Amino acid sequence: MYVDSRPRPEEHSPPASNQSRSHAPIMTDITDRARLLRAFDGHEQAIAVQDPSSGLKCVIAIHESVFGPALGGCRMWHYASEIEAVNDALRLSRGMTSKAALANLPFGGGKAVIMGDPVRNKTKSLFRAFGRLVERLGGRYITGEDVGVSVREMRWVSRETEYVIGSSARRDPSPMTALGVFEGIRAASRFRFGSETLAGARVAVQGLGNVGVELCRRLDDAGAHLIVADIDRERVDRAAKELGAKKATPDEIHAAEVDVFAPCALGAVLDDHTVPELRCSVIAGCANNQLAEDRHGDALHRRGILYAPDYVINAGGLIGAALERMGEDPHGAKAWAQVCGIGATLTEIFRQAAAEDVAPNIVADRLARKRIAQRQGVTSAEVV
Ligand code: NAD
Repeated sequence: MYVDSRPRPEEHSPPASNQSRSHAPIMTDITDRARLLRAFDGHEQAIAVQDPSSGLKCVIAIHESVFGPALGGCRMWHYASEIEAVNDALRLSRGMTSKAALANLPFGGGKAVIMGDPVRNKTKSLFRAFGRLVERLGGRYITGEDVGVSVREMRWVSRETEYVIGSSARRDPSPMTALGVFEGIRAASRFRFGSETLAGARVAVQGLGNVGVELCRRLDDAGAHLIVADIDRERVDRAAKELGAKKATPDEIHAAEVDVFAPCALGAVLDDHTVPELRCSVIAGCANNQLAEDRHGDALHRRGILYAPDYVINAGGLIGAALERMGEDPHGAKAWAQVCGIGATLTEIFRQAAAEDVAPNIVADRLARKRIAQRQGVTSAEVV
């Protein structure tokens, strides 16, 4: 699909008082064109934005905002093309709706992706332009950090809009996400090995970013043996030095002989190439959209590898953020208890999957669809 981001008369932003019309951001509703993509899956809206004065080029996808604002982070990545960015935004925002539904949160799903190099292109003016864009959506979409974006940038965004979470270190969702993943690994270990004790367990962690590092610390405290990889060598060296982790290269980490493989970098890491090479019993990590396609969940199931569906295990940050929007402490006892409940949700999914001899991602998708339909007042018989 070609995303035509040339201005249409009705899509021009009104120029701000101190801004010339030629520098106004161009906001294009691409919903009809996105409908042609497989990842579209009933989205309410997709918007492409270009802001010549700040260099901002981004896509915002709102999958659902009827039952609460669409909550979902903002990712910055060097996408090869605009179509790749649109697809990523759609896949990620659909996942946010499922995540909120399975975590029983009164929010919908959305996601923003900024096209650019997260190392070189992060400027204050770019993120403030993004903040103004979020503000223009009037609260239908609430943003936060994601891959390539940190608390510092969210602080810039918060200068322009109140519809942002994670704009202070205290509000960083990553520690709660890591807590949920840790609890998910314990639940998966209990289900697969009959014990949730991680002392001596071998865990391979792919990606040592905000969540990956925090997860490694928890695993290390629990006595697990770590093998780690990241495209950033400094992060790998630091984990080796501080946590005694073994180093692996980004190309080989998925094939490490371990009990648990924890994908904590980007999505689509479980594909035709990697699944046959896996030598783990459990896959449980924070990355979104780990399965390149749903059928890779079946492939894991056939190989006897227990897969913790990504949007269930990585909901900790979202739970904290949602509670924060509802006036609760995102790191308080209520949030902590709800995040630890991810273990119980996963156990139920594993049980059902085992009883029906199907992949856990199939059971999770079915549960999510059922909950979304219940919210929409559709009877479960009508849910495909
Ligand atoms: P981050 O940007 O802080 O970290 C990602 C890390 O992965 C970086 O260190 C990066 O160098 C590394 N990486 C990138 N490509 C790699 C590769 N091919 N091999 C190995 N390492 C690679 O991101 P994060 O906030 O830690 O999030 C990680 C994943 O978890 C993402 O998929 C994100 O969408 C998902 N997630 C994060 C949160 C959260 O609270 N931050 C919540 C839910 C889901």
